Amino acid sequence: MSVPVFIALGSNLGDRAAQIAAALERLSAVATIEKRSPVYETAPKYVTDQPAFLNMVVLARTGLAPLALLAATQSIEKALGRMPGQRFGPRAIDLDILFFGDDVIDLPSLAVPHPRIAERRFVLQPLNDIAAQLRHPETEASVAEMLAALPPDADVRLFAGSGQN
Ligand code: ADP
Ligand code: MG
Repeated sequence: MSVPVFIALGSNLGDRAAQIAAALERLSAVATIEKRSPVYETAPKYVTDQPAFLNMVVLARTGLAPLALLAATQSIEKALGRMPGQRFGPRAIDLDILFFGDDVIDLPSLAVPHPRIAERRFVLQPLNDIAAQLRHPETEASVAEMLAALPPDADVRLFAGSGQN
């Protein structure tokens, strides 16, 4: 049984595009990537004194259980040189599990849906490009509705292509 999952990728250190490409390559070994959003360049949130991020979202299907998928995404982060550091601080690569089917998971190591989706344009904009009608299993708001509810913000800009590479 395979479950549709949405994963957000971000990078703001080193060769950002290459790290995102390498993460997608490794992710495709454990999940079938079905859709890729365009890549956006986004101003840092929370900790603002750091380089701009590249962000994108993918829809994938996996037979892994949620914690096994988390272990896989964390091992990809590690393999690509992610160092432990400041929360919300600079990172070579970050993979966040946004949705795991309609599952609601509230563990210390894994919160799904990701708790900060609704406040993050850098997640909602690329998610809207590939799944505007997707509904949050708890709030029942669609991605398009969550995006429309955000205050105006010019800090998320299209970076390159539709990711068809
Ligand atoms: P953030 O992405 O919020 O800046 P980190 O990438 O540093 O934070 O992740 C810190 C911890 O978040 C990880 O140890 C992981 O166990 C936990 N975590 C909780 N929920 C999720 C999720 N949905 N996706 C990825 N990591 C998660
Ligand atoms: Mg993370």
